[in-house]
Amino acid sequence: MKVHLRQIPAGSTLHLEGEEDSDPLGLEEAGAEPVGPLEYSLDVGLSDGGLFATGSLAQRVRMTCVSCLEPFEREVVVDPFATQIELEGSELVDLTPEVREDIHLLLPTHPRCDQGGEKTCPAHFPAGARTTPLQTEKTARPAVWEALDQLKTPPSDGSP
Ligand SMILES: [Zn+2]
Repeated sequence: MKVHLRQIPAGSTLHLEGEEDSDPLGLEEAGAEPVGPLEYSLDVGLSDGGLFATGSLAQRVRMTCVSCLEPFEREVVVDPFATQIELEGSELVDLTPEVREDIHLLLPTHPRCDQGGEKTCPAHFPAGARTTPLQTEKTARPAVWEALDQLKTPPSDGSP
């Protein structure tokens, strides 16, 4: 995503809107397969020797659910997108590294098909099993054992 500085009107901003090939985003490295192009809507301007851009980005991706291992699609939306780039003398400024970074930040490390809430993951058990036993061991179990011990200890002289 490249911006020609000479196209930016002095003291104002240039509106850029459209679609761009998502290959340079390197989404596959993060386990996400791009579905369609990157959509963007940006206002770019110049200030203090730098270029700033604000707006929004959207990229549809296909990921694999860590729980049920089924592929699912998700729209990654960066809104608001805002960045500032120091100018290094070139008339053509490439926004791709900034765009790429922001989209990668929003990609889940452990994608789940039910994250958006519009779907129920068919595999509930594996995800729950990973955290719950640790929690119960630390908190609930001692109390449970204590209670069980009291139940097991009969009163020394008592009869029911
Ligand atoms: Zn799932």
